[in-house]
Amino acid sequence: MTDFTMQIDADGVAIVTWDVPGKSMNVLSREAFATVETLIDDALADDAVKGIVITSGKDSFAGGMDLNTLATIRQESGDDPAKGLFDFTMNGHRILRKLERAGMDPKTNKGGKPIACAIPGTCAGIGTEIALACHRRFMADNPKAKIGLPEILVGIFPGGGGTTRYSRMVGTMAAAPVLLEGRMLDPKKAKSAQLVDEVVPADDLLSRAKEWVLSAKDADIVKPWDQKGWKMPGGAPYHPAGFMTFVGASAMINGKTKGVYPAAKALLSSVYEGALVDFDTALKIEARWFTSVLMKPSSSAMIRSLFLNKEALEKGANRPAVEDQRVKKVGVLGAGMMGAGIAYVSANAGIEVVLIDAAQDAADRGRAHAEGILDKGMKRGKVTPEKKEQVLGRITATTDYAALEGCDLIVEAVFEDPGVKAEVTAKAEAQMLETGVFATNTSTLPITELATASARPEQFIGIHFFSPVDKMMLVEIIKGAHTGDIAVAKALDFVRQIRKTPIVVNDARFFYANRCIIPYINEGIRMVAEGVEPALIENAAKLVGMPLGPLQLVDETSIDLGVKIARATKAAMGDAYPDGAVDEVLFWMAGAGRLGRKSNAGFYEYDDTGKRGVIWPGLRDKHPVADTQPDLTEVQHRLLFAQVLEAVHAFEAGVLTDIREGDVGAILGWGFAPWSGGPFSWLDILGTPYAAERCDQLQAAFGDRFACPDLLREMAERNQSFYGRFGTGTGSKAA
Ligand code: NAD
Repeated sequence: MTDFTMQIDADGVAIVTWDVPGKSMNVLSREAFATVETLIDDALADDAVKGIVITSGKDSFAGGMDLNTLATIRQESGDDPAKGLFDFTMNGHRILRKLERAGMDPKTNKGGKPIACAIPGTCAGIGTEIALACHRRFMADNPKAKIGLPEILVGIFPGGGGTTRYSRMVGTMAAAPVLLEGRMLDPKKAKSAQLVDEVVPADDLLSRAKEWVLSAKDADIVKPWDQKGWKMPGGAPYHPAGFMTFVGASAMINGKTKGVYPAAKALLSSVYEGALVDFDTALKIEARWFTSVLMKPSSSAMIRSLFLNKEALEKGANRPAVEDQRVKKVGVLGAGMMGAGIAYVSANAGIEVVLIDAAQDAADRGRAHAEGILDKGMKRGKVTPEKKEQVLGRITATTDYAALEGCDLIVEAVFEDPGVKAEVTAKAEAQMLETGVFATNTSTLPITELATASARPEQFIGIHFFSPVDKMMLVEIIKGAHTGDIAVAKALDFVRQIRKTPIVVNDARFFYANRCIIPYINEGIRMVAEGVEPALIENAAKLVGMPLGPLQLVDETSIDLGVKIARATKAAMGDAYPDGAVDEVLFWMAGAGRLGRKSNAGFYEYDDTGKRGVIWPGLRDKHPVADTQPDLTEVQHRLLFAQVLEAVHAFEAGVLTDIREGDVGAILGWGFAPWSGGPFSWLDILGTPYAAERCDQLQAAFGDRFACPDLLREMAERNQSFYGRFGTGTGSKAA
């Protein structure tokens, strides 16, 4: 069976059906693209065929290109991967251009065969680009389906003609949300955005597309850019309106990407330069920019972490091979900020939830939190009243532990106090299924110690959510010393049910994410104490792709929490505690009542409505800014190395066992510079020899916290890369 098949019906319409065997969603392979060409050639050559409808045998149309293809082509192309990628891209343009011209006479534009695309459901990437090359697009009226070009989100841009075609259809400004933000649209919105022409009932999809094919005239199938006198909507670059558009778009892109994402800039360059020339030359320009982006280490790293490895982890790359552990009934203990969020995401995924707190009003508040999220969704038209009722109907808010009967998973999110946690563990275990799994959402307490309160430590595990639970995509699963395979599989299956991304780590202080983010915050605060201009620290972080500067981050998470963590760490480490200089600033801020956003006063000033303003001037009074300031790269390297060296230590210590989890977890958990692909990818981009050399320099200048980890030193000496040595996820650090 092939991915594309063709049947000619009695009316003379060739129906080309895309249905990749054994996959739930169509993805385009190189071989399948060749089949498309053959089928189009056959249909155009066959006099019995009046027109063509391209559709899908699945309830969606396509997920996009098989991104492994790009890596394969690069490998196959030996010394000249750019040539291989460019030729591959140009070949795609040639096939889609053939489809678009559909056999019409190049001079008169007459005699072509109409080609419609019938899109039954979700359609992304190259799927949308194929559709855009067709003469008319019909989409089934399924509000859950989305269509778009999300390539930018994995560090590339639509390079299958989508950039050139769509910007020429609607103009640069109107194309921006789809091309530059990667927004996926439901059928109705897609119609207003001209991504599709008609939205029709699912049952009529094929018949309506066929009807159009059979009635289309020559003029209906000539694209605007193939007609005489065509002008770019909204104005080409040298038109006054076009000039303003490109100036504005360029400023917007630089503001948003801070110059660290090459794809956005390349996309705009491709549209700008393409708009000055004819369509076929524009496609060639698009292919050149596309190739240049594919050749950047950042794009391969982003594709690897944000697409391939993220998906592999979601599909259970590190799941023990035990039977299905999907959760049917979950008990959530503690209906505070975290518990309420966990109850909501579980109920939203169709799981029955019992939400317990010490007092009924607290439990009710937790359920009301879920209601608040659903109400917001309703206002935005994303949630129907029926859906709201269904989701809320799954949450029972109570103080009665007997309601936990039949629960196959408990997630505990009560106060961060071992005594309180021990008490609720025993009470819940007495009620839940004996075969069930008990999980704690603790952020700081060792899992192995909390498991001592459990009658079944092999069924005890950490499931660590990030706040806000409904928005944050990462879930850290922590194995205690006695945690068994069933508990790991249960946690992974649960995370899959609630459609988040899991990483599995071993038990150690702060697990993985918090372990790496704390040194980032501390390095920022340490620089304040040294007299580095606070705005330099914050901007350096953002210019290297961190979503928040360290000072803003500590304001958001609260300064008293920082104080609490510092105290606990100091108590645990004794004389080895390295962060005295940080504490001086932090404790002083807390003492002055500046607790961060929650007190409307922190490293930043806030107005009465809670809007963040400038850095608080009092900070510079207390810690005067030094006359000589470090250069930008040095500040950035201090902030990034503080995090990545901790990630390497976590890997050396066996807390992380898979660098893929280290990279994906860093980007989704705390927003580590996504352009880099994550801490391990960033070290590979630098090259381990240079990274080790930089460690030595930073250590000499700023202290032993930058000492090169043994593993990095050894890899630098052998000139190894992390992905070269550990990339498959099968090798542990010892491999
Ligand atoms: P919170 O104070 O908002 O909520 C705790 C809830 O537990 C309260 O509603 C409280 O009434 C309830 N509770 C206390 N004792 C109880 C008992 N004996 N029986 C039933 N309910 C009881 O706290 P939170 O921020 O939601 O944190 C909860 C847990 O999640 C903590 O372990 C925390 O470390 C962890 N955590 C927090 C975050 C975060 O960003 N806040 C992130 C990850 C993990």
